[in-house]
Amino acid sequence: MKLLLNINRADDTAIRPGDDIQGTLIISGIASQKQPQCTATIGGRLMISVPPQVAGPKIDNAVYTLFEETKQLNYENRSGKNNPDDDVLFMPFNFRFPSHINCSKHPHPCQFPPSTNVHEGNSRIRVEYYITAAVDRHIFGGLSNKKRVAKALQLSSNCSSTTSPASSSIASLPITLRQKDYTERLQPRPDGLPAYTPSIHVQVVHPQPPVFVRGQANPIRFNVHSPSEAIGKIFVRSININFKTSTIAAAGSTAQRVDQDASGVKLPTLIPIDSEILELDTSTWGRLSMLSLRPTFESCLMQIKHTAEISVGISVGPQGSIFHTSSRFDMVVMDPPPSYEEI
Ligand SMILES: [Zn+2]
Repeated sequence: MKLLLNINRADDTAIRPGDDIQGTLIISGIASQKQPQCTATIGGRLMISVPPQVAGPKIDNAVYTLFEETKQLNYENRSGKNNPDDDVLFMPFNFRFPSHINCSKHPHPCQFPPSTNVHEGNSRIRVEYYITAAVDRHIFGGLSNKKRVAKALQLSSNCSSTTSPASSSIASLPITLRQKDYTERLQPRPDGLPAYTPSIHVQVVHPQPPVFVRGQANPIRFNVHSPSEAIGKIFVRSININFKTSTIAAAGSTAQRVDQDASGVKLPTLIPIDSEILELDTSTWGRLSMLSLRPTFESCLMQIKHTAEISVGISVGPQGSIFHTSSRFDMVVMDPPPSYEEI
């Protein structure tokens, strides 16, 4: 007996909540006259793997069923097919992917988390959706022969985040320009410096709200603020933009967070700082790689959040030692809107 599961989606086409999914289970090589019992199941699960050093000896993997629906399958009478002589059976079915999940944490319906597979060391968060079909064939005297076939579904959930992203300067670079011995220097990380110390810092000029579209080169604009006494003496030597994605999942008593880093822009450069505010825009370099981050998501089961960090390398003179100052901001990533709606 051979099973084949066909669904009306290409493997890489994402489905969305509320979509209709049609499929056919094809069974071939049935020798016996007796027709087998067949079922199809659609479902989804969230799996959280917690490393033993965090979980302790008792907990390891938590599996949380998001939903599951099973249907009995019937034979389709296709003309020319399902002949008595033919040993191939076609069993069509259809499911509607639920539009919301009934979660236990609050009375409102919740959004399904998108298909996810992230890990960091032994910590792993997976969200899987699937269609399976099972064939239960009686052989002799109460014995049965069960066979299964499964297909993964990719779910994309595009949900607008309600939190307002915030920008923060995480490091400013104090500058000391000494007149006496004609040496000028920059200092790395400030520690307990008085507020009046002249310093260089990076300020992000992000769109409002800072929404970035997946698969596109999204320009990032930022300003380098410098004290007036440093103008003409300091240079921007490098620009690095990195993205950090945090995936947080919680189900039952298990919660886990997985952080991932992705490089955006890595640009060695030599730009003289000739004004107190130097405006920079990544689109002018044409070097910003296509954004491939997963869409931002927020529900009580799972959160996907992104932060961008801009790090600017500065030196006194074009060849001096490079010190870094940086700024960080929360960003919202969305899928591009579909070019047309399917009818
Ligand atoms: Zn909920």
